[in-house]
Amino acid sequence: MLKGKVAIVTGGTRGIGFAIVKKYLENGATVVLCGSKQETADKAVEKLKAEDSNYKVEGIAPNLTSYEEVKEAFKDVKDKYGSIDILVNNAGISARDSIYQYKAEDFNKIMDLNVNAVFNCCQVVSNIMKEQKGGVILNTSSMVSIYGQPAGCGYPASKFAVNGLTKSLARELGKDNIRVNAVAPGVINTDMVASLPDEVIKPLIATIPLRRVGEPEDIANAFLFLASDLASYITGVILSVDGATMS
Ligand code: NAD
Repeated sequence: MLKGKVAIVTGGTRGIGFAIVKKYLENGATVVLCGSKQETADKAVEKLKAEDSNYKVEGIAPNLTSYEEVKEAFKDVKDKYGSIDILVNNAGISARDSIYQYKAEDFNKIMDLNVNAVFNCCQVVSNIMKEQKGGVILNTSSMVSIYGQPAGCGYPASKFAVNGLTKSLARELGKDNIRVNAVAPGVINTDMVASLPDEVIKPLIATIPLRRVGEPEDIANAFLFLASDLASYITGVILSVDGATMS
């Protein structure tokens, strides 16, 4: 479904991002994954190559919160592979702090990666995509961008902002043949969820209409669809992939 396409996936070293990278590779894309450290990016590449040595995958670790570093890194990708057809802004951190103790510096940290870095990547890539007459930008939002959450307000606030960027850029970039969408995952079986004790996870699952947490592959499938030509007339959408979870 993505034969000949070049994709950048931020936060591609583990969890949801790693599943997206794998799905894109299985579907014929060349993928540059970004990690927070070169070492973890290299490890992720090694793991993928061990599965299939023909995968065209590379790992980089620019500081996504630095506009200049993102610009340089994306220019290198464009120079090396000829285009950037798909950008997935997936790197993100969450928070659980109560507002009564929330430190301003922690709030800023969330905004820096979850929002400012998304802006940096969108800004740089939209110039490249405009020049090449098209592309797809996808963002990882969250179900908390719809409901909020009862602690750690910085996290849902950042994902509301991601939705705002998604909808606004879809409107602004449509004329340049650039589609912009987001996927809003529910509770997904990444390291964080896998480590929760039974007494936490069981009641949680009982509230999910599909009666299970999502797998990273459930989310990667939505990212594959939205990146592909099957979604050629879809832009500005926040696609919930959450088993109909209600807050
Ligand atoms: P994870 O912690 O398993 O992976 C996060 C990724 O982001 C890693 O690849 C990591 O290298 C990267 N990252 C973290 N800090 C970084 C930094 N400072 N600079 C660059 N990269 C950095 O997380 P995940 O659960 O796979 O989450 C991925 C995305 O999905 C996030 O945007 C998260 O908000 C969103 N999400 C996750 C869930 C869930 O249940 N897991 C639900 C909804 C939304």
